[in-house]
Amino acid sequence: MIIITRYDITDEELDHIRERVEAAGLHTHLSRGERRTIIGCIGDEAKLQEVPLRSLPGVEQVLPVLKPYKLASKEFAANNTIVRVGANASIGSDVLTVIAGPCSVENRTMLHETAHAVQSAGATILRGGAFKPRSSPYSFQGLGKQGLELLAEVRAETGLPVVTEVLDTRDVDVVAEHADMMQVGARNMQNFALLAELGRVQRPVLLKRGLSATITELLMSAEYIMAHGNHQVVLCERGIRTYERATRNTLDVSAIPVLKRETHLPVIVDPSHAGGIADLVAPLSFAAVAAGADGLIIEVHPDPESALSDGDQSLNPAAFSTLMERIGAFAAAAGKTFEVPAVAGGRGA
Ligand code: PEP
Ligand code: MN
Repeated sequence: MIIITRYDITDEELDHIRERVEAAGLHTHLSRGERRTIIGCIGDEAKLQEVPLRSLPGVEQVLPVLKPYKLASKEFAANNTIVRVGANASIGSDVLTVIAGPCSVENRTMLHETAHAVQSAGATILRGGAFKPRSSPYSFQGLGKQGLELLAEVRAETGLPVVTEVLDTRDVDVVAEHADMMQVGARNMQNFALLAELGRVQRPVLLKRGLSATITELLMSAEYIMAHGNHQVVLCERGIRTYERATRNTLDVSAIPVLKRETHLPVIVDPSHAGGIADLVAPLSFAAVAAGADGLIIEVHPDPESALSDGDQSLNPAAFSTLMERIGAFAAAAGKTFEVPAVAGGRGA
C-alpha cells in the first residue's frame, strides 16, 4: 500500500502517519519528489484495516500496490532512481551511460590498454570479471583477488569506476572493497543468499536477468536486495534462452519498455552476451538505446582472438569506437543525451 501525501504536508504530519503505520507492525519507506512525497507501507496490510489512514492530516490518497514487488515498483517512488557509481558516473539520468571492458581481467597490460581505449571512446565505467562463472570447470575461472587488485589499480590511474561480478557470499566484502559496483551474473539472479548479502553493503548492484527468468522474477530479485537495505540497484537485460540457436541468447527488447513502466530502477542492456557474436553488438546496442535503455554494458578486448573468455562477442577498440560514434543519434531519438567526456582522446586512441 502507498500513501500519497498532500503537497503542503508538514514534517509533524508525516511523522505521525509513519508512526501510525509502524505501530500497526508494518515498515514504512519514504520517497520524496519535488512535488509529492510517497509513504510506502511494507508488511501485512490487513493490520492497517483499523487505522483510519485516509482521515489522517496530510494524507491525499491511499492506494493498494497489487504487484508482488513493492520497493522496486514504480508506484513506490516519487522519481526514477539515479544510481551513482564512483565519484563521477551515474546510471538512470537523461544521459546514456556506457560501461565497457573485457569479459575477464586477464593481466595488467590488457586491462590498462582496454581501459584507456574504452575511456577514449566515451565509456564512463570499466567492466572486467575477476571471479568468472564458467559453464565448464576446465575453462579459465578468472584471476580472483589479483583481478580485483588490477581493477582498483586501473581505476586509480584512469579515474574510471569499476564493476565486477561477485559469485559467492564469502567474497562480498572483498569485492565491495575493490569495486564501485557489484555485478550479480545471470546464473546467480536467484541466489537469494547472495542477494540478501548484497542488500547489506552500500555499493550499487548491477543485477543481470537470469537465462530463463521472467521480468517479474528479475524484479523480485531486485526486491530482495532492496528489502535488505540496499536501494542502489541497476537492472540488466542480457538476453534470454529461447529455441533460437543463431544467436547465443535472444535479446528481449520488450523487457526494456516493460521494465521502464514497472520500476523506477535504471535499466541497461548487455548486447554482448545477448547476441554472442561481435557483429551483432552494434545493432543490438542501437535497438536497446532506441527502446529506452539507460545504458549499455559491452565487452571490449584489445585482441578478441586471444581472449581467455568470450572472444567471439568481444569488440576490438576500433569497432567499439565506431559504435560509440553512432550511438548518440539513437540516444537523441530516445530523448537521452550522450556526450564523450572531455578526457576522451578520440577514435581508437
Ligand atoms: C559477464 O558479464 O561476463 C557474464 C558472465 O554475464 P552473464 O552473467 O550475463 O552471463
Ligand atoms: Mn563475458
